[in-house]
Amino acid sequence: MNRRPFIQSILTTMATLPLTRFQRLTEHFQQDDHLMPVIFIGHGSPMNGIEINDFSTSWAALGKTIPQPKAVLCVSAHWLTKGTAVTAMETPRTIHDFGGFPKALFDVQYPVPGDPELARETIQTIRKTSVAEDHDWGLDHGTWTVVRHMYPDADIPVLQLSIDYHQPPEWHYQLGQELAALRRKGVLIIGSGNMVHNLGMVAWDKLNEPAFGFDWALEMDTIFKDRISSADHQALIHYRDLNKAATLAIPTPDHYYPLLYTLGATMSAEKPRFFNDRAVGGSLTMTSVQFG
Ligand code: ZN
Repeated sequence: MNRRPFIQSILTTMATLPLTRFQRLTEHFQQDDHLMPVIFIGHGSPMNGIEINDFSTSWAALGKTIPQPKAVLCVSAHWLTKGTAVTAMETPRTIHDFGGFPKALFDVQYPVPGDPELARETIQTIRKTSVAEDHDWGLDHGTWTVVRHMYPDADIPVLQLSIDYHQPPEWHYQLGQELAALRRKGVLIIGSGNMVHNLGMVAWDKLNEPAFGFDWALEMDTIFKDRISSADHQALIHYRDLNKAATLAIPTPDHYYPLLYTLGATMSAEKPRFFNDRAVGGSLTMTSVQFG
């Protein structure tokens, strides 16, 4: 192909474009080059925060393979609120929001900085609702048990966005759509929960049996992955209609909503990469998915 006429025609087009439009075009290309991934992570047991196992090893690998983010914004299943808030303190505390675990887990501190300026930017980015600046919460185990493996030097600022538990599934997906703009600003968005999460049905005697999942849990896991792969987000928003096993997989939506934030923040052409797709204790899945 003779490239010269092609290049000349591009240059002519550029010369006739109004400057602002040309700037917008070039900005678009520059921004997409720097689009951070968005990830849903199945966090599972708090013990993953201190254990070196297949799950935590893959989180550590993620931290080394994706571009270094300016900050992490995590939507954790463990911060449920009325209204939406974003942590805005300089130094978020490490919250040990669990009981009955070894002292070694309670001893963990993850001393990352916050990013009050990014918190304000997040508040301005979200138009769907008015987001409050939070100075009380910090990092719950949905966040720190995962992110400390990704960034062990604790040198990347970490923020949390709360889940307004009074809102319907579609609302959370739409809020995720608004968060997508932060991916262009070097922010790594993580939804941290579990797709299949039924603590009442855990087979405690089979916790150590590798990848043990009840039939209904494995069936739902396959359905979730199929719908995510075909970008059928509407079906995932209306999850109760997916299958009769959906109410077993999602008896309460706290651990599922972080997936809706993640899906909302994806771009239409992005393909999923699944990892840690294994069941634990019968009624939990660790299935995680990365876009970008
Ligand atoms: Zn959890």
